[in-house]
Amino acid sequence: MKKFLNLFQNLLSLFYPRFCVACGNSLQENETHLCLNCLLHLPETNCHLFEHHSLDDIFRGRVKVENTFALLYYRKGGHVQQILHHLKYKRCKEVGKELGEYYGKKLLITGKLSNIAYIIPIPLHPKKQKIRGYNQSEWIAMGLSNATGIPYNTKLLIRNTFTETQTKKNRYNRWENVKDVFQINDKEKLANKHVIICDDVLTTGATTEAAIQKILEVKNTKVTVITLATANG
Ligand SMILES: [Zn+2]
Repeated sequence: MKKFLNLFQNLLSLFYPRFCVACGNSLQENETHLCLNCLLHLPETNCHLFEHHSLDDIFRGRVKVENTFALLYYRKGGHVQQILHHLKYKRCKEVGKELGEYYGKKLLITGKLSNIAYIIPIPLHPKKQKIRGYNQSEWIAMGLSNATGIPYNTKLLIRNTFTETQTKKNRYNRWENVKDVFQINDKEKLANKHVIICDDVLTTGATTEAAIQKILEVKNTKVTVITLATANG
């Protein structure tokens, strides 16, 4: 049966060739979304291996976080930009799950994720999610959850309003734009919990900061941030 399945997959790839989401080369049958070469050369931050890392400074003086972890360095025009583009706009949500699992395994053995109650993906506005068909951060959260055994929860943190595109705004305006975007759905469930906030890419951190602040307004909560990529450092 397995032989037959492989044959079928090979035949299928003749008609529907699959391509690496980072470099665009065609994939071998044992590769899923990234080719082996790209996987081996991902620009990993390895921040989880250090006591202090430049990622620690992102939220310093803004909100209190326990740890900030990002798997990859984001560079304009680089492979990571391609991966994120496919994850967000080309319906390749599975690559988020794959990399979430990959990172979850690495983070788990550091012991820095102990006593964490939930993984909370940054929610998209429902309108935006309807257009896209999925929330890419939720797929990353699924992967992290598979690897760590920590459940993910999409109900606790919800999004209020539609925000305009943020690229052309300065930092203050961006903050004005996002500070009341989120609300907590079930404060009792969140009270006294340490949670992970999970997102695709960390740039200025304004949106993430708004989400963290809402969570920290709930009694005795702690937040760790995990993203696939960071534009910092
Ligand atoms: Zn590749």
